Formats: sequence, structure tokens, C-alpha cells
Amino acid sequence: MYDAIVVGGRCGGAATALLLARQGHKVLIVDQATLPSDVRLSTHLIWHAGVDLLHEWGLLEAVQETGCPLLTGFSLDLGELALRGQPPGSTVGAAMAPRRLALDKVLLDAALAAGVELRQGVTFEDVLKDGDRVTGIRGRLQDGSAFTAHAKVVVGADGTHSRVARAVGADTYNESPKEAGSFNLYSYFTGVKLDGVEFFSRPERMIYAWETNDGRSVIGVIQPGGAPRPARDNMEAHFQSELAALAPGLASRVQNGRRDDEWLSGAIATFCRQAAGPGWCLVGDAGVTMDPITAAGISNALRDADLAAALIHEGLQAGHSLDDSLANYQARRDAVSVPLLQFAQEMAKLAPPTEDVFKLFMALASNQEQIDNYYGVFGQTVTPMAFFDPANMAKIFAAA
Ligand SMILES: Cc1cc2nc3c(=O)[nH]c(=O)nc-3n(C[C@H](O)[C@H](O)[C@H](O)COP(=O)(O)OP(=O)(O)OC[C@H]3O[C@@H](n4cnc5c(N)ncnc54)[C@H](O)[C@@H]3O)c2cc1C
Repeated sequence: MYDAIVVGGRCGGAATALLLARQGHKVLIVDQATLPSDVRLSTHLIWHAGVDLLHEWGLLEAVQETGCPLLTGFSLDLGELALRGQPPGSTVGAAMAPRRLALDKVLLDAALAAGVELRQGVTFEDVLKDGDRVTGIRGRLQDGSAFTAHAKVVVGADGTHSRVARAVGADTYNESPKEAGSFNLYSYFTGVKLDGVEFFSRPERMIYAWETNDGRSVIGVIQPGGAPRPARDNMEAHFQSELAALAPGLASRVQNGRRDDEWLSGAIATFCRQAAGPGWCLVGDAGVTMDPITAAGISNALRDADLAAALIHEGLQAGHSLDDSLANYQARRDAVSVPLLQFAQEMAKLAPPTEDVFKLFMALASNQEQIDNYYGVFGQTVTPMAFFDPANMAKIFAAA
């Protein structure tokens, strides 16, 4: 009998397991994959709030030691003007973009060091129940044999297509199809000189570039999910012509480097799911999947892990009820996640700036404190509500 079984051992699951084990709980992670292994569909950027959590958990140095630098320069080129700034209110004051092979391994190693048990090659199939209450999991090993384990709580950290969510019948809300989101085309490059994290916002396009591990950069072009997509054999030409037309400065730096990986592309449907029920909860993409345009998913997963582990720990204490404790999870998760999801979904339309948006950026241009606050919305150190609050907008325009 475990205190917690965590299904999925990457950023959301490994972090939840780690935090529970550090508080003395008996935790099992099951994952169908062999870990550590890479996640190909990710551009790896962890904004300030996520990096601060890695620091708080004592893991930041280990992530840096994988050959991943702290990223402290941020620029948003809007064509007519460029905004340079830093999210305020962060302990570390940096973002970073570790390859998932590196990040997930650091989290998993820390979880194992804290006493977590790991079973790889276990595919979760269903929950075990006593009445309404989830009491464990049933799965299958790679040789086809059955696997069962029991726990006081089952944590679904099994990603966007969560089978745990399906098994418990978690309600879904705030759904958007992938066509309403963004489509991302990117690859990895060496020898491209970058000036921190670079964004180029153009009508119906967002171009981005940042450094991951070992001097390699991830560089990509994002377009609306409903727009015609480049064919697989045309991705190189499409990328180069978009870059040359929309961000010629970056295009010439890319010419001086070398692409050293295949082209990767993807678009995803986004949603929130019911966060918890009797004997279960969801963290990371299993619970909330956001459009990747704001690169929020990993930070979200780490934040969910922090919150869910705290509530589970509280609920497992003598005289406390797990159900009562987890009853607070959805409201607290959504208070942060839903505005971020809506911000990302709006941004994913990549609509040409309206007159009002253009005026806002012009007003921001001479106001460093508010530029930083705008970056704080991405860095998750300033809420979208606080930045876009009419009183703050009035302040920005008055100052301009
Ligand atoms: C194109 C793209 C780019 C992105 N770029 C960024 C970015 O730059 N920054 C950012 O923060 N986020 C980004 N994201 C989002 C980010 O990748 C996710 O938010 C993050 O991976 C969620 O982590 P997780 O731990 O919840 O789930 P996952 O990383 O999906 O891990 C789920 C784990 O569950 C396991 N699993 C699944 N089903 C089962 C089962 N039935 N039984 C056992 N195990 C199972 C899987 O093997 C896997 O190990 C991007 C997403 C996309 C699509």
C-alpha cells in the first residue's frame, strides 16, 4: 500500500513524487516509457516562476550542470519597435530551456534519491475502486502481464491524453480545438549567435529563438493552427523564407550556423479538466493543457506539483481528510491557470494588432517598469489580470 501512486514520471509527475517523498510519504511512479528519455514535441523554455521552483527545490544547479544556461535577456521585436525587459519579482531572475532529457532526469533522480519507487514500462489501464473512491491502479507490463498497486491517492501526471483522467471520468471545460490554437515548426541549430530569448511578432506569425543545452538553440516559426501548413518535404524552404521575410537579422545569423536535427512540428487541442475527486487528482498537462505559444506548460506542471503535493501531504496527516484537502485544489489551480490559458489562447490566434493593442505597445515602449510587467505575464510573476487591469492600462497610457 503506497501513500501515492503517480502515473507519469516527467516534469509534473516526478516533481509531485519528489515533493511527497521529501515529506516522508511512500510513493510509486509508474510510466509506460523508459526514463530518462527525450520529449521531442517541446521547445523547453521554462519561465521565471518555474525556474524559481527548481531553485526552491534545490535542483537549479543540477539543471545548469546539464549544460543549460540561465537566460536573462528578453526581446520582443514588433516591427516598428522592440521591447526589452525582464519579468519582475523572481528569485533567480532568469528563464532556462533544458532539453527534456536533462530536466526530466534531474527531477526523477531527485525523486529517486528522496525514496520514490519507479516502475518503468508499466502502462496504466484503469483505476481500482472501492465504491466511488479510487484505491489504486491496474496496468500492464511490457511482457503483457498484469500489474496492480494500491494507494491512498492516485495522481494522474500522464500528459495531455491522460488515461487516468478518462478512467476517473474527469469533466473537461475551457476546451479549444487545435485549429483554434497555434501550429509550431522548429528545429535545433548550432553556431547561431543569439541575444538571450528573442521573439519576433508579426501578423499571423511569431518567430522565436533561445538556447537550450550545450550551445544548441531552438528556433521556430509559429502560425495559426487553421492556416495552411508546410508539407514535410518543404519545411526547410518554408522556415528559411519566413525567417528571411519576417526576421532578416535572425535569418542571417541562422545562415552562419547549422541545423543539426530534424524538423519538428505540432499543434494541440487545449482544455482544463476537473482537478480532483475521491482518491485522485491530476497535475500538469493531464489537468490543464495550454497552447504552447506562451511556453507555459512546464512551469504549470511544476506549479501544479507544488500545490497538489502540499494538499496531499496536508490531507494525509492524522485528523485530516484527503478529500477535504483536495477539494481546494481545482479552485487554487484554476485561479492561476485559467487566466494563463485564456491569455495563451488569445495569443495563439496571432491576430494582427488592433489599433488599441498597437497604442498599448507604443505607450509601453518608454516605460521600462511596465515592459517588465508585460514580460512578467509570460514569466508568471505578474498575473494577466493585474497587467491588463483597466487601472493598470490607464496608468500606462497616462505615463505615456
Ligand atoms: C510543440 C510544443 C512545444 C512546447 N514547448 C514548451 C515550452 O517551450 N515550454 C513549456 O513550458 N512547455 C512547452 N510545451 C508543453 C510541455 O511540453 C508540457 O506542458 C509538459 O510536457 C507537461 O508535462 P507533464 O509532466 O504534465 O506531461 P508529459 O511531459 O506529457 O509526461 C507524461 C508522462 O506520462 C506517461 N504516460 C502517459 N500515458 C501513460 C499510461 N497510460 N501509463 C503510464 N504512463 C503514461 C508518458 O510516458 C510520459 O512520460 C510544449 C508543447 C508542445 C506540444
